[in-house]
Amino acid sequence: MAPPPVSKADVEDAIEFYAEVLCLTHWTITLTFNGVDKDTWATIDCAYEYRRADLAINLENMTSQKIMHKKVVHELMHCVLSPLCNVVMNYVTDSGAVKTLINQQEFVVTHLEQMPIWEHITPPRRKTRKK
Ligand SMILES: [Zn+2]
Repeated sequence: MAPPPVSKADVEDAIEFYAEVLCLTHWTITLTFNGVDKDTWATIDCAYEYRRADLAINLENMTSQKIMHKKVVHELMHCVLSPLCNVVMNYVTDSGAVKTLINQQEFVVTHLEQMPIWEHITPPRRKTRKK
């Protein structure tokens, strides 16, 4: 049987690499592979004031290295934008406006994730892999 297209170690390597690219090395990013809906790639909960984030990855939905890289970039972009998003959320009390802000945040983060620059910035693959 062929190994899965993306291993936990691949995700760990990608997080380490993109955290450096995005100047997030002073953050503590805690990775889990549990608690993500089956239709979701990943979720992140950022606490920028503590430079911490809880990142959950659904490994089953990472059907290629390319998809995994895009989703790691996407989730880490939430960390980059979290100071702005959190301060805006603190001043908005209308639930409709909060929903709009969340959608706008996803729009921006997805735009950043899809920028062609990421095609040119890919982490090196590990030379030796555990089977
Ligand atoms: Zn998102």
